[in-house]
Amino acid sequence: MPPSKGYAALAATSPLAPYGFTRREPGATEIAVEILYCGVCHSDLHMARNEWGQSIYPLVPGHEIVGRVVAVGSSSKKFKLGELAAIGVIVDSCRHCAPCNRGEEHFCDEGPTLTYAAKDRVDGSITMGGYSNNYVVDERFAHTVPANLDLAAVAPLLCAGITTYSPLRHWNVGPGKKVGIIGLGGLGHMGLKFAHAFGAHVVQFTTSLRKKEDALRLGANEVVLSTDPAAMKPHTKSFDFILDTASAPHSLDPYLTLLKQDGTMTLVGLPEKPPAVSVFSLIARRASVAGSMIGGMPETQEMLDYCGQHNITADVEVIPIQKVNEAFERMLKQDVKYRFVIDMSSLK
Ligand code: NAP
Ligand code: ZN
Ligand code: ZN
Repeated sequence: MPPSKGYAALAATSPLAPYGFTRREPGATEIAVEILYCGVCHSDLHMARNEWGQSIYPLVPGHEIVGRVVAVGSSSKKFKLGELAAIGVIVDSCRHCAPCNRGEEHFCDEGPTLTYAAKDRVDGSITMGGYSNNYVVDERFAHTVPANLDLAAVAPLLCAGITTYSPLRHWNVGPGKKVGIIGLGGLGHMGLKFAHAFGAHVVQFTTSLRKKEDALRLGANEVVLSTDPAAMKPHTKSFDFILDTASAPHSLDPYLTLLKQDGTMTLVGLPEKPPAVSVFSLIARRASVAGSMIGGMPETQEMLDYCGQHNITADVEVIPIQKVNEAFERMLKQDVKYRFVIDMSSLK
């Protein structure tokens, strides 16, 4: 493999900076990908700053990867040289437990291997993510890319897309259902697009009323300022399902009171502090609070194919990699429209 270069955090308090490293030659069932675009997920920020206490440095973030196949292992069948390939949040798993056999590799009994800051199952090195020029991955953990979609706008589907598609499918969001999406950021805007495409009545909750027109354009039937109790009240006991994508600590109670009897609120956002929940909000409607994490490899491919068929991609702001620290700061200010994507040709 040619030398790898990327942007890394060297410590929780240091900004991302240029960093050189090496990747192994692709094994028999692996491919090497030259990265064209990589999305900037809020998890990258949480991890670069060790907000979940599991970071390993140097840390090259990035798990919304789209690239071109530049090498193919001897028994690899899925990709040909020059084809497009996409890589998401996990790059390996045990491949033999019950969840892996079901294609739910993200729930692997032995734990999936994350795309960055995890121990690589093949060579024991620490995985380095997609804020870089190339990646080596087993073909099982790489996806084909629909030919009709804008490539920069496809990258965020690999995390923001599947993380919202999977719970909306699992909890049967569709016609006749009233569905709420909390937070209009990277995940939230994809959740909004999918819930709308699946035929639900979608209410976008936001703390930023300036995003209202965008939310309506992206498919919301209604937009509610979640910090205004008077705007929230008319929705009491009316929702079948609420998807919470908020990245910062917040109380769940104002939303739980909006669920119908037996409704479900599913958390995908991962604030650094655990959420506050009043049991009274739950018992009064037999409500469920659930969680969901990305999706397995077959469902990720299903989501990409669905996006190809329905012409769905992320709304992106393409940036050179030199602006990634600025993008992190803007993400913290909720100033995202609605996903930053790094154009890797800027990486010199
Ligand atoms: P993002 O683009 O920064 O969007 C987060 C949005 O949350 C903000 O734009 C804001 O939307 C809303 N928000 C922020 N503070 C809030 C608060 N106090 N109350 C209510 N809403 C608030 O982040 P992202 O990339 O979508 O990621 C969102 C979260 O999901 C992160 O914690 C990330 O780590 C996590 N994540 C989880 C998974 C998984 O598998 N479960 C996968 C990927 C990411 P408004 O301005 O509209 O209020
Ligand atoms: Zn992510
Ligand atoms: Zn497994």
